[in-house]
Amino acid sequence: MAVNTIKKGFTAEVDKVLKLVIHSIYTNKDIFLRELISNASDACDKLRYEALHNSGISSDQELKITVILDKRNGVLSIKDNGIGMNRDDLVNNLGTIANSGTQKFLEQNIANKKNLELIGQFGVGFYSAFMVADLVTVYSRKANTAQTFVWQSTGESGYTVVAAPKEKELDSSGTVIELKLTPESLELLEKYRIQHIIKTYSDHIAFPIELIDEDGTATIVNSSAALWLKAAAAVSKEQYEEFYHHISHMPDKPWLILHNKVEGNLTYTNLLFVPTNKPFDLFRPQAKSRVKLYIKRVFITDEGINLIPPYLRFLCGIIDSEDLPLNISRETLQNNLTVSKIRKSITKKVVTTLQKKIDEDREEYEKFWSNFGEVLKEGLCEGAFEEKELLLDICRFHTLRSKEKTISIADYLVNMVEGQEEIYYIIGNNIETLANHPQLQGFKERNIDVILLTDHVDDFWVSVVNQYKNYALKSVISSDIDLNKIQHIDKEAEKAAGNDINDQKIINYIKGALQDKIKDVRISTKLIDNPVCLVIPEGAMNIRMEKMLVEQKQLNKRSLKIMEINTRHNIFKKTLCLY
Ligand code: ADP
Ligand code: MG
Repeated sequence: MAVNTIKKGFTAEVDKVLKLVIHSIYTNKDIFLRELISNASDACDKLRYEALHNSGISSDQELKITVILDKRNGVLSIKDNGIGMNRDDLVNNLGTIANSGTQKFLEQNIANKKNLELIGQFGVGFYSAFMVADLVTVYSRKANTAQTFVWQSTGESGYTVVAAPKEKELDSSGTVIELKLTPESLELLEKYRIQHIIKTYSDHIAFPIELIDEDGTATIVNSSAALWLKAAAAVSKEQYEEFYHHISHMPDKPWLILHNKVEGNLTYTNLLFVPTNKPFDLFRPQAKSRVKLYIKRVFITDEGINLIPPYLRFLCGIIDSEDLPLNISRETLQNNLTVSKIRKSITKKVVTTLQKKIDEDREEYEKFWSNFGEVLKEGLCEGAFEEKELLLDICRFHTLRSKEKTISIADYLVNMVEGQEEIYYIIGNNIETLANHPQLQGFKERNIDVILLTDHVDDFWVSVVNQYKNYALKSVISSDIDLNKIQHIDKEAEKAAGNDINDQKIINYIKGALQDKIKDVRISTKLIDNPVCLVIPEGAMNIRMEKMLVEQKQLNKRSLKIMEINTRHNIFKKTLCLY
């Protein structure tokens, strides 16, 4: 057997996680059980799925999770009869971290705040076992194989994997995790204590959780009914929160709960949550989907099927379909008509619920918007026209006249001045700089509001969404804005004072001087304190986007701009004397 012994160091990432776990002081170490039970439940889900798709695997026996208390030896065990792991699985799953970017996020989010409750969110929940144990032994047998392997570690110096001795072989597929508890954690062997933890964190787990005490008495601790099948009125706030923690591994509370049963052409149940806080991986392309697909109560997948559109990726929870056949393969699901119908239906539900939230409590919505607005706006670049208009309705904006509190685009319309027929926006890197932008002075003078856009996604959606309720969306930097058409501020007073200058003369002069460095020269109605500015031809790409594309070498050079001049400015009055 020694020949088969694998002795390995953990990867550097795992080592760091373990050092953190072992040397931290916890406010809430009980969460280790939630993580291990959640893994056991995933393993049962996987076996049930495989049994449906792979004739070699059966799930005849009842899938369940067993927690065993052994006071005499100071050992707590968590057992499942799920999918199990072979030797390679043990090395890969319990010795490395699959997600290579995890390290950075761990350092930022856990090390600094010492907030280890977040551990499951980073796909490293298993290591929370070392919060309470100084020796962890995992016995596992993979479905469809005959051999049991043993993984063991103190968390300090790597781990070993060996074939299990005869007496420790498992008689069916599954996993047993034995925790040799630290002296401070021995209280976890008290039956009522552990029962309480399971009830608190894992009551809704869809498989029975059995507790075996030192006398060998077995009790089923959880209710094990799928929570989403209950009527919303029958589910308590605590139950929703517990389920949310299970599915999101986030320590916050849900900001919004959407629990519906849809019947008719399409029959499905959804239990979805919007988190209060921003998940750490919201902008990481390789982040896993947070919404799981079930078919008739059986977990199917949480990967690669576009169950919800990417711009709603902050949602987490489950969707349970009655229409899809149980034995459908994950591959077929990618382009499945029912899935796309569900996606459409869910999207509409979410957007209308968010709209309701705005109507109920704007302040609350502001919190949501500051976390997820940037993601939501991605949807403005995709989808059908009506969908975009609905989305635009729930978007919030800072504007020149409302810099602190956001307003909706409908509010903007209400605030338009007489004669204004377009919606104006400006794009830049921060609200303050934008609000003081020289080209906004003419707008301020006429009390015309301007939407201030600072997110990266703004560059994209404004080039796709050209109008809202028949009002064109127009960049302030565009060349064809004549503010005098909205409100004429004339220069009669200046003329009377003998300060009038010949506009055409000065245009010709500048054109002659700059020649092919600019596209054109025009009189500006936007400037007051500044003499000149550059604007873009109508319909041209916005300046920040152009700059980005040039920097990324996707564009050779910047396009020629149009120069607008402010002939009311002193500098022109003086230069006029020069020629
Ligand atoms: P996550 O659950 O987010 O993937 P964990 O650190 O909790 O991260 O677990 C790592 C991996 O170890 C799991 O993805 C799974 O492949 C494997 N694993 C852990 N516990 C079990 C178990 N009881 N049965 C089968 N596989 C398991
Ligand atoms: Mg886990």
